[in-house]
Amino acid sequence: MNIILLGYPGSGKGTQAKVLSQKLGMFHVSTGDIFREELAKKSPLGAEVASYMTAGRLVPDKLVLEVLKARLSVETRGLLFDGFPRTVEQAEGLDNWFESRGQAIDAVIFINVPEAEVARRLGARRTCSGCGKIYNVVTSPPAKEGVCDVCAKPLLTREDDKAEVIARRIQVYKDQTEPLLSYYRSSGIFHEADGSLAPEAVAAKIAAMFAGKA
Ligand code: ADP
Ligand code: ZN
Repeated sequence: MNIILLGYPGSGKGTQAKVLSQKLGMFHVSTGDIFREELAKKSPLGAEVASYMTAGRLVPDKLVLEVLKARLSVETRGLLFDGFPRTVEQAEGLDNWFESRGQAIDAVIFINVPEAEVARRLGARRTCSGCGKIYNVVTSPPAKEGVCDVCAKPLLTREDDKAEVIARRIQVYKDQTEPLLSYYRSSGIFHEADGSLAPEAVAAKIAAMFAGKA
């Protein structure tokens, strides 16, 4: 089974992808995490994507597709995409890739959160510099301010969670990613979940979509 999660940055795709991929035994593909790993490793690819990411712009489609195809060529589990595709061109590239492998997308899940809520969440997001755990200083703060509950390392604001960059990412989503909703909506595999609920409630709604299927 292959699944795509769609939604604004900050809609909770990453959180839901972790839960769902474990539950269904799928491989969680986060292009954002892949690029952040390359940045941390200071690889040539990391250097190439750095300027796009810190500015809140999209990495060019060609590069995204190349990196993904290389990473996924030997993966045999079902794929759960989080943060990809982000443009119609990426979606077409993915369709062609699946077709060449005799596979298809089984479900597209749109996690629907209002824009104002997304901006609030991203501004309040802190990420652990040690283990990557995500906090929200308003709704799910750590026990001790600025320190991870799990590994006690400092919590940081992601470079692209700074106010100016958040506005850019929201605009990029509207311009380049939102058109994917109509791309997939007519396909018969499109599902929508109310992403303004608590993470556990969203997970329950999504799980219900797959009850008895995995
Ligand atoms: P979020 O969904 O919270 O914006 P991600 O971790 O998914 O964060 O992505 C962070 C950044 O990585 C994006 O702003 C963009 O620069 C880059 N990126 C991730 N996925 C893609 C993609 N599919 N196409 C182009 N750029 C991407
Ligand atoms: Zn931690």
